[in-house]
Amino acid sequence: MASERSINVGGIQIGGGAPVVVQSMTLTKTHDVEATTAQIAALASAGCEIVRGAVPKTEDADALPKLVRLSPIPVIADIHFNASLALRAIEAGVAAVRINPGNIGGPDKVAEVVRAAKAAGMPMRIAALEEVRLLESLDYYDFKISVKSSHVPTMIRAYRLLASKVPYPLHLGVTEAGTPFSGSVKSAVGMGALLVDGIGDTVRVSLTADPVEEVKTAFEILKALGLRERGPIMIACPSCGRDNVGVQNLAEKVEERLHAYPQHFEVAVLGCAVNGPGEAGDADFGIAGGRDVGFVYAHGRVLKKVSSDILVDELFHAIDEWIADGMHRPKRLKMAKPAALAMAEASLIPIE
Ligand code: SF4
Repeated sequence: MASERSINVGGIQIGGGAPVVVQSMTLTKTHDVEATTAQIAALASAGCEIVRGAVPKTEDADALPKLVRLSPIPVIADIHFNASLALRAIEAGVAAVRINPGNIGGPDKVAEVVRAAKAAGMPMRIAALEEVRLLESLDYYDFKISVKSSHVPTMIRAYRLLASKVPYPLHLGVTEAGTPFSGSVKSAVGMGALLVDGIGDTVRVSLTADPVEEVKTAFEILKALGLRERGPIMIACPSCGRDNVGVQNLAEKVEERLHAYPQHFEVAVLGCAVNGPGEAGDADFGIAGGRDVGFVYAHGRVLKKVSSDILVDELFHAIDEWIADGMHRPKRLKMAKPAALAMAEASLIPIE
């Protein structure tokens, strides 16, 4: 159900079955080239693939040629109310412009911007269906569409309707989603409901936070749905009365160290060994904590029984070795023994 049509934003394909693209927006004043390029660099290293910057003033448009040159990822200029800023952005060589044809100054101004974009072979992002018809009447089809809503059920309904009516790529977002916690939940629910059905070609998570958090959240959503891979995935048990190790603490420690790995693999962190072989079974690696000793799992089997104080180090030692050896995933044997028996045997392994 991916969008039939695609656009090319600075070499990145959006739509037409391409992987869902992650984008974000700079918070800096666009005319402050130093601060903006620093933020773009931080976003790019977090995995952001396209960045958008607000262009409310002439001085912002003037900074675009330099930003475009310095940015490692395509830059989209975000413009409202002012067609001449859109024309200047197109001239500056941005990868795309985001306009709202409804507020850019009437049909003549829209036509002027569309003509310039067409001549430059540049795509646009617009919102809503009337605008689609307007651009189509100008024989311009090189755009993606977003629907603005901060109300999740409305957003889901609107995108579903849009996906059933137009072949253009869709830019998903829950606008003004909020602070990192509630904003991430809203975005995950709204985007997740659509992405799981194949609706959505690029995403921006809007958070009232450092935009790097938006990129991290977007990837977590896409990773959870199996749509993109970036870095490791960690699963952790919710803890319960059997947890003698403080699994939250343990999981935070592991998560922190996993940030250094660009490779894609899965690590399970468990508070106790009761369900270890079962719950860590599908992950590439796992640890099960204990008061004095814990277990390191690799590829569904117990690898080591070690003293609790070196459990995390041993886990990362095993991960590093595996990466150095080429990240081969051994064929899993179906566990013939019940988990309890396997654990009873594992408990006999001498501590290293
Ligand atoms: S792994 Fe152990 S501590 Fe964690 S939820 Fe399961 S039984 Fe409880």
